[in-house]
Amino acid sequence: MAGTSNERGWVAWLARRHAPPPGGLGIGDDAALLPLAPGLQLAATTDWFLEDLHFRRRERPEDCGYRLATRALSDLAAMGAEPLALLLSAAWPAGLAASWRRRLHAGLEAAARDSGAALAGGDLSRAARIAFDIVGLGRVRAGRALLRSGARPGDSLWVSGWLGYAAWGRRLGARAQPSDREQRRALARWRRPRARWELGRRLAQPGRASACMDVSDGLSLDLHRLCRASQVGAMVFAGRLPAPPPAGRSSRARSAAARRALDFALYGGEDYELLFTAPATARARLRRLASPTLPLTEIGVITRSRGLWLELDGGRERLPERGWDAFDAHGGNRRGGRATP
Ligand SMILES: [Mg+2]
Repeated sequence: MAGTSNERGWVAWLARRHAPPPGGLGIGDDAALLPLAPGLQLAATTDWFLEDLHFRRRERPEDCGYRLATRALSDLAAMGAEPLALLLSAAWPAGLAASWRRRLHAGLEAAARDSGAALAGGDLSRAARIAFDIVGLGRVRAGRALLRSGARPGDSLWVSGWLGYAAWGRRLGARAQPSDREQRRALARWRRPRARWELGRRLAQPGRASACMDVSDGLSLDLHRLCRASQVGAMVFAGRLPAPPPAGRSSRARSAAARRALDFALYGGEDYELLFTAPATARARLRRLASPTLPLTEIGVITRSRGLWLELDGGRERLPERGWDAFDAHGGNRRGGRATP
């Protein structure tokens, strides 16, 4: 059992202390669920977005606003919920330019456009540094929400879109000028990750996904969370991860780049893709959901034995529980723009 000094331990302590709401789902998934009307549940999630921890003031404010909205919309997507509304509490130091705030809202609106989620309220305060807390509200048919706890041994493990580009883009930095197409992708996916709410709603239809969460803190750490909730293990095939292709002139440079791309994909975070499991019978239906703009990749398999393993170059190694933890030493991996702990 983890102590209460890191995120996992504290969340476990809270979950033991607070019973789930009647007819709903409490602490420990991507969002809480509450009864809304007969046959309908409300999904509710909240996320911090803090200056110098989650964003820096020298970034484009439009990009900050976009990522801020994505944090909430992606958690709703992970539950298979239809977005309804956002609430935004904001605090900033006296003198923060109104133009910065307006530009942030332009980015937030761009991310929420077409999602159905309007900004419906919040709270304002003064603070020494800029701070936001965003609440996302959505609705889902009762019994249809995608939970972390539904994975079964033998299920396939899937991920939407791409992994590791956001961490690479973060490492390139807010002021970087891309030198090729892949760098342009990395910067775009870091600055403006698109929440997968349309996909989440489709995955929540019967006979598709058995479990789901969004990849916000890195594939490895988030997969450990999903497996713990489902009381299963997993094998991930490194060669199948939709990670940046290794570039370089020499084979040595390429293999160093491949290892770095793998680290970005496993531990980088901020991908905001959906990580989900599905029985073999769903494979054909899932393949039909995929498109060139949003591929779905089968990256592994769920196992009865509880360990998490990475198959790499014909061998296998343990997949460490590493990534973004708000209180771990590794949690600093976003501060300096460094992508790997
Ligand atoms: Mg999440």
